[in-house]
Amino acid sequence: MKKTKIITTLGPSTDTKDKIEALYKSWANVVRFNYSHTNYDYFSKIIDTVKELNKEWKTNLWILTDTKWPEIRTKSVEEKISLEKDEEFFLSNTLNESKISDDSKKMIICDYDYIVSDLEVWRIVDIDTGLLKAEIIAKDNEKLTCKALNKHLIGSKRHLNLPWTIIKLPGITDSDKEDIKFAVSKWTDFIALSFVRNKENILELREFLKEINAPKGIQIISKIENSEALSNLDDIIEYSDWIMIARWDLWAEVEYEALPVIQDDIAQRCKIAGKFFIIATQMLESMIENPIPTRAEVTDIYNAVVQEADCTMLSGESAAGKYPIEAVKTMAKVLRYTESALPYTHEHFEKDLWEETEIKKQLVKNAIYTAENIGAKNIIVFSLKMTKLISAFRSNINTYAFTFSDEVRKKMTILFGTKTFQIEKWSNEENLKKALEVLKQKNLLVQGDRIVAITEIEKEDQVVPSMQIIEIK
Ligand code: PEP
Repeated sequence: MKKTKIITTLGPSTDTKDKIEALYKSWANVVRFNYSHTNYDYFSKIIDTVKELNKEWKTNLWILTDTKWPEIRTKSVEEKISLEKDEEFFLSNTLNESKISDDSKKMIICDYDYIVSDLEVWRIVDIDTGLLKAEIIAKDNEKLTCKALNKHLIGSKRHLNLPWTIIKLPGITDSDKEDIKFAVSKWTDFIALSFVRNKENILELREFLKEINAPKGIQIISKIENSEALSNLDDIIEYSDWIMIARWDLWAEVEYEALPVIQDDIAQRCKIAGKFFIIATQMLESMIENPIPTRAEVTDIYNAVVQEADCTMLSGESAAGKYPIEAVKTMAKVLRYTESALPYTHEHFEKDLWEETEIKKQLVKNAIYTAENIGAKNIIVFSLKMTKLISAFRSNINTYAFTFSDEVRKKMTILFGTKTFQIEKWSNEENLKKALEVLKQKNLLVQGDRIVAITEIEKEDQVVPSMQIIEIK
């Protein structure tokens, strides 16, 4: 079983029924729709296709909606603006545009009203997701004077990043609300919050989901992609269900040599907090054009396993690349190989930093040690809390998680090392017997296998968590 789950972004290269089925068969677990890039009609059709495939039992895919969220962009231009290294240019906003009479330099206009007031001389601005870095060398009431630190050609509506600046953008916008309403009305299991800056953004999204009566199981993924999020990281980790290390935009906000260290730091903090995390972006970028990966890309996926990510993600590779299916197969192959070669250390569990109840933690810990000691490859479990604990423990043991609730299954499904089964509601006594039958039917258990089960036993008026060891006769 592949333990690290794979998210694939859907787009023109993968928007047909055959391709989506092929992605699943190549070990994709979740399909992602990026609302920055297309329209409702298009998504509606693909979501219906995924629904159909799941209904026909050809796939078991989950849906992630990636929202746009407030961001700063440059204005549309008729002709691209070319800048040489060391060339000075003006940077201002649409409000000031008509007031500026100085045409001694090229002018870049952006849609952020506070661009002049928020920024100081000597700060760096990033335009076009890190492709142009510029230093602010002077400012007056209407504009900033910047010096290009490299040569670049700037087109329309390019991203503007203001590293280490507290940005006065609104939280959820009306257009985000429309996107989320649409996604919820169609179907989504996860909502990724782009450019999250603080915990208030997450609370606002949770409030909105309540307002529109969205299903309770929807999980919020915070994308860490700007420096303000880095400053509020522990809060964001605490308030989110999942974290995505969104390296595309994050790259533009930090010095590039710092990105791997920041990635490692976010991963460590998530593990200590027991939060689930996704490593995203450019993991197999060269496979947009080529059928095989580069050596460095394979090593990047290896590193994601070393960092014990719950999920890795494909963006352009699966949405618009020439080899989308090969990319997923490649990712799965490297993940599986690395997982089987690496001994998982349980290091974070040992640190005892978890807030879960001590009894549950001890039970899970001992169940995993027992499974390792008796050569059991799998643990059976029936509760979300226990499944999360086992997953966070990061062992070489696989978890078979059983639940009767669709909502709970959503929360279990892309946890590291977990395979979920939806079952009818049974009594606590019947649970284990039925689960073993399901596993035998699916050929996941054969004679001689040992398995450890964490069950709940009803004793008088208490439900007592307990562990059982089973040998399949
Ligand atoms: C990223 O920035 O790395 C990311 C995953 O987000 P998007 O695909 O929206 O750029």
